[in-house]
Parts: sequence; structure tokens; C-alpha cells
Amino acid sequence: MKKLAAGNWKMNGLAAHLSEAEALAGAHAQPGCEVLICPPATLIARMAQTLGDAPIALGGQDCHSADSGAHTGDVSAVMLKDAGASYVILGHSERRTDHKETDAAVRVKTEAAWRSNLTAIVCIGETLAEREDGKTLDVVGTQMKGALPDGCTAENVVVAYEPVWAIGTGKVPTMEQIAEVHDFMRTELTARFGDAAAGIRLLYGGSVKPDNADEIFAVSNVDGALVGGASLKADDFGGIIGAL
Ligand code: 13P
Repeated sequence: MKKLAAGNWKMNGLAAHLSEAEALAGAHAQPGCEVLICPPATLIARMAQTLGDAPIALGGQDCHSADSGAHTGDVSAVMLKDAGASYVILGHSERRTDHKETDAAVRVKTEAAWRSNLTAIVCIGETLAEREDGKTLDVVGTQMKGALPDGCTAENVVVAYEPVWAIGTGKVPTMEQIAEVHDFMRTELTARFGDAAAGIRLLYGGSVKPDNADEIFAVSNVDGALVGGASLKADDFGGIIGAL
């Protein structure tokens, strides 16, 4: 299985920042892992042009469940593909909070992504209150059941565990806590998808930095990272890629 270093730029990035992607391409022309940048939708096509043949994949940060139509302000999976994307992040906790996205909504968006041959990165994770209540595995299990459609394979889906309380806070779970959730995710995927589950990549996300990437990547069933803040600078993201 090829590990995945995915950068989620969130609502950051102007034309002036294309040079960060270019710098990353120059520094990591032959990475031992797959490298992905998910810039804002406005930059995907230009970034595809900037990167040319560099081995860096591009992705969107959300898509609508329909392929086209009267949905002002939304972007479809067809459009992301057309712009040069091969991945799309779905169900990020910021979308669940800002746009009230449910697991059922994430599931139909995942099916839309598949219709356009995009690999869906489905995000799940508990809040601090849920962790303190001892509900982490319940929450993660429920989100996986609800958000993942039937037919998940190593090619069409990646699952990202992002504890809400670790995102952008500098707080990281203990390595034992990450292992507990990732082992549970693998068990759940295997129970539902059988042999196909063995190759599904499980990413950890939440305050991943160059200085903690080594220990996180050494955890069992961690097959890469979904990186927010540290993916905006080529040096920092490069350090994380180097740890994979
Ligand atoms: P940070 O790396 O900034 O904590 O963000 C994580 C995240 O939300 C990636 O999707």
C-alpha cells in the first residue's frame, strides 16, 4: 500500500501561493509516498497547470451530490475532475459544523465522487465532549456506517480520522489513542468490506507537524496524514512527507 500525505488548504490560498505547490514539486519530485494537495476549488485548474507532470495529485474539499444543476455556489465532482482533481475530501468536521452535513449527506456525496472517478477522503472523528464521555469508538463506528456507501475499495476511498478537538489546536491524541481508533477502523472496514478493506488507507489528521509526524506514522494502521495548517508551507509539508 502506498502511503498518502494529503494537504487540506481549507479556505486559504490565492494565485500568489501557487509557488508553494511549485516548491513542493521541486523538492519532492520522487516521493516514496503519494502526495496530494487539496487547494480551494478556485486554484485547482491553475495548480494543475503549475504542477505539470510533477507527481502531486490534486483534490477538492467538498462536492455536491448532483453532477450539475440549479445549486448556486456549489461545485460538483464532475467539475472537480474537469479542473484536474483526482480526490475529494468529504464530511470534514468544518463542513459538518458550518453546513450541518450529516453522514447520510456524506454518503451520497461519496457516490457522486465515484461517478466521476474521484477517490473520496471521508472524514470522521469525535468531539472533545464525546471523547470525555467515552464515546469515541461509538461515534467513529456510527460515522463510518453512515457515511461510507457499499462498495468501498482501496482505490475509491480513503478514511481520515480527525478528532475535532485536535484540528488546528496543537493538541494531538496519545499514540495509544490513535492506535486504538485506527485498529478499530480497520476491524470495522474488514467486517463490512472483506478483503477489499486491507488496502483502504487510513489517515490521521489534527495538528500534524514535521516534528510529530515520525511518531504518528509509526502507529499501527496509520497509512498517512491529512494535514491542514502545516500543508500551506512547502517546507513544513515537505518535512511531513519526508517522515512517511
Ligand atoms: P490542522 O493540521 O491545521 O490541525 O488541520 C487538520 C485538518 O483539519 C485537515 O483536514
